[in-house]
Amino acid sequence: MICNLIDNHNRHLNYLRISITDRCNLRCMYCMPNDRLPKLEHREILTYEEILRLVNIAVKLGITKVRITGGEPLVRRGVYGFLERLTAIPGIRDVSLTTNGLLLGQHMARLKEAGIKRLNISLDTLDRDKYNLITGYDHFDRVWENIIAAWRAGFAPLKLNMVVLKGVNDDELEKFAALSLRYPFHVRFIEYMPIGMAGIDPSQHVLTPEIMRRVGVLGRLEPVANGRQDGPARRFRLPGAPGEIGFISALSHHFCETCNRLRLTASGKLRACLLSDEQIDLREPLRKGCSDRDIIRLFRLCVQSKKAAHRLAENMRIKSQMSKIGG
Ligand code: SAM
Ligand code: SF4
Repeated sequence: MICNLIDNHNRHLNYLRISITDRCNLRCMYCMPNDRLPKLEHREILTYEEILRLVNIAVKLGITKVRITGGEPLVRRGVYGFLERLTAIPGIRDVSLTTNGLLLGQHMARLKEAGIKRLNISLDTLDRDKYNLITGYDHFDRVWENIIAAWRAGFAPLKLNMVVLKGVNDDELEKFAALSLRYPFHVRFIEYMPIGMAGIDPSQHVLTPEIMRRVGVLGRLEPVANGRQDGPARRFRLPGAPGEIGFISALSHHFCETCNRLRLTASGKLRACLLSDEQIDLREPLRKGCSDRDIIRLFRLCVQSKKAAHRLAENMRIKSQMSKIGG
């Protein structure tokens, strides 16, 4: 029996984002800028079995859509077998993946076989040296090759996520938008969110109105209607473009009124909002042998705690690490 998760603000929550690891093979300056961040120990991370049990329960509560993220999800051992089992859960209609793209090349076929059709790939620059500066690794060529290979392999839509930072990559906004003229990619400009320990100064934030003004030089941005299942991006298309441009504006134009998400962190905390440190632990109850009914009660508790809108005021920072929560 499906009994929907509806919060106190009449939002139907049908989308679960799951961080399967806090580990990553890059060190993006806005996310995990150094190696000193505390890492979860193996026993602190939910096992695949535990995640699958939670998803099976979540489906009974009306969750139909799941995104796997991290950390870098493709660094976790056994991920392809896990994805196969996840996509096979009756009631799950859509499983997608957010990745930095580095390991895609070797495993494209396995991802397809596992039932993944849609990918979001993070790419913050089209410049090799700058890629090195932003991520700490000289892997631009490999990631770009993998993006093209993923497109050829038929992953669609293929979304490219760019976190915009002043003085770092904001000189490439037009170049990124122009990718949508050449490829059917959905280029998404993301406002930096103050989460975790990255020392990004507020003066480096670039807000959507400024980004829109800059990419608007390429042509009129024609709005694309958002489907009910679509995420928070406001979507546009340049005239004649095969691809799209999207803006994710957590700070300047929050999208809380249409938020349909819950998040499961790598250590098994359920969160109603990315931009709030409130969370409910599912791992201990799971490991103490609680019933499905107990878990359902915790899901409902979390949903009832979901605020109408985030309260991230200026100069505030979310304490948890993005890689643990799952961006
Ligand atoms: N490692 C994968 C990747 O980079 O795509 C998945 C995890 S990453 C945390 C998910 C998304 O969050 C990426 O698109 C990344 O650019 C974005 N992200 C990370 N930290 C962010 C921040 N502080 N503000 C906005 N977006 C952020
Ligand atoms: Fe790793 Fe993704 Fe965070 Fe970059 S944004 S450090 S790739 S988890």
